[in-house]
Amino acid sequence: MAADQGKAINFNAGPAKIPEAVMEKAQREFINYARTGHSILEMSHRSTDFDKVIKGCEQLLREEMSIPGDYDVLFMQGGASGQFAAIPLNLAALSRNKVQSCADYVVTGSWSEKACKEAEKYLNPVKVNSPKKPYVSVSDPASWTRDADAAYLYYCANETVHGIEICEVPETLPGVPLVADVSSNILSRPFDVSKHGIVYGGTQKNLGAAGLTITIVQKDLIGHEHKMTPSVFCYSEMSKNNSVYNTPSCYGIYITKLVLEWIKETGGVHALFDRNQTKSTMIYDIINGSDGFYSCGVDPKYRSHMNVPFRVGGAAGNEVLEKEFLTGAVARGMIGLKGHRSVGGIRASLYNAVTLEETGALAEYMKEFMADHHDKQ
Ligand SMILES: *Cc1c(COP(=O)(O)O)cnc(C)c1O
Repeated sequence: MAADQGKAINFNAGPAKIPEAVMEKAQREFINYARTGHSILEMSHRSTDFDKVIKGCEQLLREEMSIPGDYDVLFMQGGASGQFAAIPLNLAALSRNKVQSCADYVVTGSWSEKACKEAEKYLNPVKVNSPKKPYVSVSDPASWTRDADAAYLYYCANETVHGIEICEVPETLPGVPLVADVSSNILSRPFDVSKHGIVYGGTQKNLGAAGLTITIVQKDLIGHEHKMTPSVFCYSEMSKNNSVYNTPSCYGIYITKLVLEWIKETGGVHALFDRNQTKSTMIYDIINGSDGFYSCGVDPKYRSHMNVPFRVGGAAGNEVLEKEFLTGAVARGMIGLKGHRSVGGIRASLYNAVTLEETGALAEYMKEFMADHHDKQ
């Protein structure tokens, strides 16, 4: 139950719902944090009080994600989109192609497409999986054209707009590090950091507020940056300064620490994974059993547990019905269900903070809406 009676059931894609317990704790501590006499917002980023917050946040993340000791955790800014540039800037020199640095990109939706496009500024990115639009599936990884000279192999673990999730860690050629964008599924399921060179994501979907980007990077990959790399995007500079090269997103780090405490208290990533599977299954089951009234074009093998995109009134979507669906949802206190403008239809984002009960309310509404409208399909 929402603590505040006026609180909506929030299916936003990002920024997204934050657990109520976290919001309440932040509210209690807002003006006078831990009896320091001031707010996190008013605190020096170099104070011992804040140092405890940032170190505590890192420690919790290391525990909950089982991050090996030979990885640094960097708290950065500029969003996940900033990392689209930071990754080639920091890693291009690792390419063994002496004519032009290159990197391999698995393009499975609009976020990996954007990352690939941004990388063109710094190296030669190669799309390895023959991407096809509309994005509804991923070609067999065995058919990808991997380059042994690539600086890295890049993929997006969950395409937030298209609802495509890659759960099996892609294999790379020897000596080619794997880079994953986990912005929209970080800590939603067990994830093997040790198979990656870099794992990164913005925190505004599954881990807190907007304004903080977490980059987990294997120490061996640090220190190869292009000399033009801005210091705030430079992994070695950020690592050397324990993420306080300049003023970090202090409040964002604090909120993420609270979210990580909440994850720990509620059973950790395995418990979250169980809940997330139950939640997404609830919605996909209704879609699958709706005789085409609801439809999700994504290949069942790659359907996301976090973002469920679907159409109402047939595979192509009936925009009149979809509008009515959204209006009816808002009338029941459910917000954030409109699909991304590039794909249309509906999208239910079922991040960690969204409860079973809230997902159940959406499922009930979908059933009722179908019963009331199936004749108009
Ligand atoms: C939201 C999102 C981004 C972009 O994040 P910004 O913080 O807005 O730059 C990148 N990748 C994925 C998978 C996302 O969901």
